[in-house]
Amino acid sequence: MNLATEQRIALISVHGDPAIEIGKEEAGGQNVYVRHVGEALAELGWQVDMFTRKVSVEQEDIVWHSPNCRTIRLKAGDVDFVPRDNIFGHLPEFVENFLKFQEDNGIIYSLIHTNYWLSSWVGMQLRQKQGSCIVHTYHSLGAVKYNTVKTVPLIASTRLGVEKQILETAQRIVATSPQEEEHMRTLVSTKGSIDVIPCGTDIQRFGRVDRKTARNELGINPQTKLVMYVGRFDRRKGIETLVRAVGQSKLLGSENFKLIICGGSRAGHSDGEERDRIEKIVAELGMTQMTEFPGRVSQKDLPSYYAAADVCVVPSHYEPFGLVAIEAMASYTPVVASDVGGLQFTVVSEETGLLAAPQNVSDFADAIDRILVDAQWREQLGQAARKRVENKFSWEGVAMQLSELYKNLLHKSVEQPMVANS
Ligand code: UDP
Repeated sequence: MNLATEQRIALISVHGDPAIEIGKEEAGGQNVYVRHVGEALAELGWQVDMFTRKVSVEQEDIVWHSPNCRTIRLKAGDVDFVPRDNIFGHLPEFVENFLKFQEDNGIIYSLIHTNYWLSSWVGMQLRQKQGSCIVHTYHSLGAVKYNTVKTVPLIASTRLGVEKQILETAQRIVATSPQEEEHMRTLVSTKGSIDVIPCGTDIQRFGRVDRKTARNELGINPQTKLVMYVGRFDRRKGIETLVRAVGQSKLLGSENFKLIICGGSRAGHSDGEERDRIEKIVAELGMTQMTEFPGRVSQKDLPSYYAAADVCVVPSHYEPFGLVAIEAMASYTPVVASDVGGLQFTVVSEETGLLAAPQNVSDFADAIDRILVDAQWREQLGQAARKRVENKFSWEGVAMQLSELYKNLLHKSVEQPMVANS
């Protein structure tokens, strides 16, 4: 294997385009993860090609992020937005176009890092056809997710089967928290090889604005008690729990109390229904005056929102990792989060914020109030939160761990070449 081939890697994220705007429809943590990991790996000297599905004819086929890092969009089915639960049938075309891209460009990727179960299916096909080494990150586990929803989609059994197969056959699985690893072992399979490498965040971006400047920028006065939500509008994100908790707060009715709910698109998009539902609950609880919905906030503007907040709430029913929690923490803002999944790893209860029982409105209300009424404690929690992110969750640190993993796997595959179709 020559050095050039060895240093070229593919990241596959079929439904999460790393080059698009984040926070709308289905674009969230996976897009952020792939983009940042890709860029940080390129900084370390890898040639990084990130593959995703093209969803609009206006989109460029190739977007360059830096000289060594690009997003490549492949056709799979109609060139249009397709909800992730309906993409599976288009994957053979994705594989075909991936192989064609390789052939047209004289590349064979020896190492492919896949993201989400859809991409893992693509990875397994490529392993079979050309012996590529496969690393996989789940981002969400069907076995956990389906326990938290009332109706299970038609694709569920296919997904569960693919998730088991990739765990048992990939060269390495990357779990983003010890809790996720535990779920894989107890709910998916005891076979397969797992490393824990967390998600990261941009610690230069988040934390660079202080609270006073941020409030000036956003026109929020210094006395206001500000509760913040950042994320997609999706039922499993638990925005309803947050809104009802604020509705039970002891501070409700006081003049200087504000709730800002960032994220989401306008009506007509796949997340519009949840947004309408939440706005209705806000109105029913008489909270319209104190609540703002700025819509999707860009990564450039988000640092000010986090820094301005007294507390950021992550009320998800289930969260494999939860980037929002570490973004807020990097911004010196304590987090009240559901006591589930990756949030149990990132948020240290009583030290960097508080954990509350998922979907438990009064638990959330108590936790939010405890932080809002004690400004000095809030400050201490915020400082500790920042420290924790600096020590554990920078993208540079994450990329370095991934880079070591890739090197070890590539080294092994040179020593023990894999026979295609085995
Ligand atoms: N996000 C954003 N603007 C918004 C709302 C969300 O840029 O208006 C970003 C947020 O900063 C985070 C990501 O979307 O990086 C959400 O990731 P998370 O892991 O918290 O949740 P997911 O969307 O993957 O379920």
